[in-house]
Amino acid sequence: MVITGSWREKPLTISVKPNCLTVSVEDPQDADVFSYDYAGRLWTALFEGVSYRRGLDGKMVAKWRTPGNERERRWLPPEEAAQVEARARQTAAQIWIAIQAGNARLAIPLPEAGMTVFERVIAFDAALSRADAARYHQVYKPVGILPPDQYMAVVLQATEGCSFNSCNFCSFYKDRPFRIKRHDEFRAHALAVRDFLGAGLSLRRTIFLGDANALVAPMPLLLPLMDVVHAVYDVERLGGIYAFLDGFSGERKTVADYQALAARGLKRVYIGMESGNAALLDFLKKPSKPAEVIRAVQAMKAGGVAVGVIVLLGAGGHLYAGEHVQDTIKAINAMALGMDDIVYFSELFVGEETAYSQAAYQARLQPLSPQERIAQGEAIEDGLRFSIEGGTPHISRYDIREFIY
Ligand code: SF4
Repeated sequence: MVITGSWREKPLTISVKPNCLTVSVEDPQDADVFSYDYAGRLWTALFEGVSYRRGLDGKMVAKWRTPGNERERRWLPPEEAAQVEARARQTAAQIWIAIQAGNARLAIPLPEAGMTVFERVIAFDAALSRADAARYHQVYKPVGILPPDQYMAVVLQATEGCSFNSCNFCSFYKDRPFRIKRHDEFRAHALAVRDFLGAGLSLRRTIFLGDANALVAPMPLLLPLMDVVHAVYDVERLGGIYAFLDGFSGERKTVADYQALAARGLKRVYIGMESGNAALLDFLKKPSKPAEVIRAVQAMKAGGVAVGVIVLLGAGGHLYAGEHVQDTIKAINAMALGMDDIVYFSELFVGEETAYSQAAYQARLQPLSPQERIAQGEAIEDGLRFSIEGGTPHISRYDIREFIY
C-alpha cells in the first residue's frame, strides 16, 4: 500500500509492503528515502545523493556516482554508520509524531502494519542496533561472500569454511577450517537465525546454504540438513534453496542426486569456474578442471537445478588472457546454459599479501587494467552462444567489493 501526503510542506510517501516500510520525503532537489524491515532495522537509506545499505552485522556501505557517472563506494566506520541510522530513525520518529498529531497529511490512514513498523523503527535505537549486530556474530560465523542475486537470502551455514581453501586469490575462509554441521547443531543454528531475523524475515527472499561448499557434503548428510531447512522455514514461500559448489575433484554428485536435491527445493548452484583454461586454473590453485566443471553443470541441469557460473576477469594477467577468453567461451558454450542460469563476470581483486600476488610476481605477470578486465568480459560474452529453445542466461557483473549481507 502506498500512501501519499505531505509533511513540512514537502511531498511525503509512505509505502507499507508485506516485507518493508519505506518513507520518502521528496524535496525535488534532494529526496530523503529510508527503508526498514519489519523488525525495525534500517535496510537502505538515500539522502544528499548517496545511497546507504546496512548489513545484518551492522556494517554499512555508501554508494554514489561521480560527476563522470563512475560508481564509487565506501564502507563507513561504525560511528558514521550510527549517524546514518540515527538520521533515518529521527526522520521516522518525526513523521510518526506528526502523523499522530495531525501535522502530516495522509491521503488515507496508515494501516496497522505500518504503525507497528514505525514503532519498531523508533525503538531500534543505537543500543539496540549494537545489540542486534552483536547477536549476528553469535548466530553466524561472518558470512564471507554471496552471489549478488542472493544478498537478500536467509543464509544458513550448514557447513563452515571451504573444503578446498587452496585457491591463491581467495581469502574468504583462510582461517576457518571446513566442517559439516551435525544435524542437531544445524537445527539449532537454523532456529537461531529465524529468531535473530524476527519479523525481518519477511524481507528475505531465498535460503542460501553456506558457506563455500555446502553441497560437497555427502548425500546421506546433506539430505537430512535440507530437511532441517524445511522443518524451520517455509522454503516454498521464500523461493527455494541456493548454494555454492566449488571444486569437483572429490565425491561427485549424480543426476539422481541433483534430482533428489531439486525435490527438496534446491533451485540454483553457483560455481566459481573462474576460467575454462586448465593451465590458468592450475596457476590459480583451483581444485577443478574445466571438464569436471562442465560435467557437473550438465548433471545439475539434467537433475533440474539451474546454475550460476562465475568467471574471474583479469585472472592470470596478460600471460593467460588469450587462452582464458577462448577456453572460457568453449567451456560455457559446452554447458548448454539457458534462461534460468546466470553467468557472472567477477573482476579479480587481490591484496598484496595473497598467494596469487606472490605467484604473479614470480611469474612476472602483467596485470590487466580495469578497462582491460571489462574488455575481457565483453570478449567472452561476444563468443557465447545459446540455443533458441533454452533461451539466454542472465549475464551480469559481480563486484565482490559490494558484498553485504
Ligand atoms: S574453492 Fe571457492 S571458496 Fe574455496 S578457496 Fe577456492 S574460491 Fe575460495
